[in-house]
Amino acid sequence: MGQPRSIVILTGAGISAESGIDTFRSAGGLWEQHRVEDVATPEGFARNPNLVLNFYDMRRAALANVAPNPAHEALARLERAFAGELLLVTQNVDDLHERGGSARVLHMHGELKSALCTACEMRSPWHGSMIDRPPCPVCRAPMLRPDVVWFGEMPYEMGRIYRALESCDLFVSIGTSGAVYPAAGFVQEARAAGARCLELNLERSEGSRFFHETRLGPASVLVPEWVEEVLSRAAE
Ligand SMILES: [Zn+2]
Repeated sequence: MGQPRSIVILTGAGISAESGIDTFRSAGGLWEQHRVEDVATPEGFARNPNLVLNFYDMRRAALANVAPNPAHEALARLERAFAGELLLVTQNVDDLHERGGSARVLHMHGELKSALCTACEMRSPWHGSMIDRPPCPVCRAPMLRPDVVWFGEMPYEMGRIYRALESCDLFVSIGTSGAVYPAAGFVQEARAAGARCLELNLERSEGSRFFHETRLGPASVLVPEWVEEVLSRAAE
């Protein structure tokens, strides 16, 4: 194909796993000691807020021990050099895209480094812990929760994402299992709208059959290669 004019990129746990972030599908680490329904649902939070606040406090603190990898850095390079439209959507709640140099990242599942106030509903940047019930920076109520989208909650900015999917000519999915909706359905939206769909993943995903092309391997290798391809084509 020729040079794409509009690209939507979706990243998932696979891109962060290579930086050493625990994901809920990986063996070992924090997730293995907890059930998803206890730490990643509104009901779990209502039942045991201390457990949930502590779980996310530990995950937020663990960000200090990981660093972005060449896949994050390549996507930041693409953002700076690509002349067309680019939307980077991530399912990840870590800050590795930002630390890799991306300036515009849509965190559809929220962010560890953000607090959501259950009193005033404002979102505030957050770097410390929440277990001691610190006040909301906006309304001062001691009612913060992790600004992470839990199972059963609506992801952020779906309208903007679907509009971009409908108008892109290239959709690229990186390191996602294709198992968690609505993100798992993005490829079908983009394809129905006429976009070419490329998957970069460690192994074939549940949604692989919807892509025009699947490349298998580590994101830290595949993503820089693909970014070079796009940028060299743009230079022709
Ligand atoms: Zn508040």
